[in-house]
Amino acid sequence: MTTASAFFCRDCLTVCKTDEETRCSHCGSPRLLKHQGLETLSIAHIDCDAFYASIEKRDNPEIMNKPVIIGGGKRGVVSTACYLARIRGVRSAMPMFKARQLCPEAVVVPPNIDKYKVVSREIRQMMLELTPLVEPLSIDEAFLDLSGTERLHHGIPALTLAKLARRIENELNLTVSVGLSYNKFLAKVASDLEKPRGFSVITREEAVSFLADKPVGIIYGVGPAAQERLAKIGITKIKQIQLAPLDKLAGAIGNDVLRLLALSRGEDKRRVEPVHEVKSISNETTFETDISSYEELETILWRLSEKVSQRMKHAGFATTSVTLKLKDNKFQTISRVRSGLPPTQLAARIFDVARQILKKECEKPRAYRLIGVGATELCDPTEADQGDLADTTVIKTAQMEGAIDSLRQKFGANAIKKGISLRRS
Ligand SMILES: [Mg+2]
Repeated sequence: MTTASAFFCRDCLTVCKTDEETRCSHCGSPRLLKHQGLETLSIAHIDCDAFYASIEKRDNPEIMNKPVIIGGGKRGVVSTACYLARIRGVRSAMPMFKARQLCPEAVVVPPNIDKYKVVSREIRQMMLELTPLVEPLSIDEAFLDLSGTERLHHGIPALTLAKLARRIENELNLTVSVGLSYNKFLAKVASDLEKPRGFSVITREEAVSFLADKPVGIIYGVGPAAQERLAKIGITKIKQIQLAPLDKLAGAIGNDVLRLLALSRGEDKRRVEPVHEVKSISNETTFETDISSYEELETILWRLSEKVSQRMKHAGFATTSVTLKLKDNKFQTISRVRSGLPPTQLAARIFDVARQILKKECEKPRAYRLIGVGATELCDPTEADQGDLADTTVIKTAQMEGAIDSLRQKFGANAIKKGISLRRS
């Protein structure tokens, strides 16, 4: 049984004296968080309110009270609309011309993603001060697992989250909506219930009945196609999934049926998975017999450089530093790094730097049992491989590697091999 001590004011964080209060006895605010079972919940989803538009309004008081649409740009669609524009029917992903028709007086601001990323990092940093278990979903939303943090933060997770929301408002002048529940699925659903500046709670006890009347589309992974298949067997509400015979559901949904059934009952076992920041990307290989020939090592180095380049391209990184690692037959490891390079994603450029180091090392008569290459200072790829007056070959190399990459995507990794890679195989 919950006592009033678990209820508090979201503005001044004062604990409620009784559970009959409708306004805070300390500051008079009506924003009380009162929910039976509140103290049992620790999985949260935090979603910034109209993130891009709120940042632009914050930074330009002249547009504060006007409808603001962030958009235009290359794709010609709305990326974020503030709440004033939303009232007029403007939505994310809507074509700009339509948004302008609905809200002709809207101020249109082109997106400044770099600025939003900085703010996003500031918010994430505040989250990480509360728990290491922060799982970002996008630039403006994340899951947090606050289990077991009561003693550290001197309060239940709900209170810690209210403090965080308040801190983001005070320090960054932005608002967020919080969803708090006992799993990720319901936390995310909850954060959407009361935007902006919301704080919604779904407990285990109420989950099944809460979900019953909701459309099946709020279940993550149930997109338009699945919704259509379910509608064909007469299922549009979650309660119908809760009650449906398994074989009937399986007929419409296939393999996903058990997951769907579990979610419809408010069961979701996914953990909050923190992302570890990637600091370097490297590849190495150990030989069956020791190698001392530079030519042989160079061939292997090319293949490793290609792998590192591939992984960087996939992960969306470039590097300004290349490390070569060698282990000789006496198990001595040599690691040599070249830093301060122009940012690159290209295998050819990584290889070029690593090869120069290798050549120098091979002047000493030694046999090696391992070689590795790494991209060790990762950076944003937007500035990478632009070339300059001194180096016009970069752009050509980038085009060539781009062509090879897309051929490999179509026909598989072995579809095309550059000369040096063929030499050894
Ligand atoms: Mg958002």
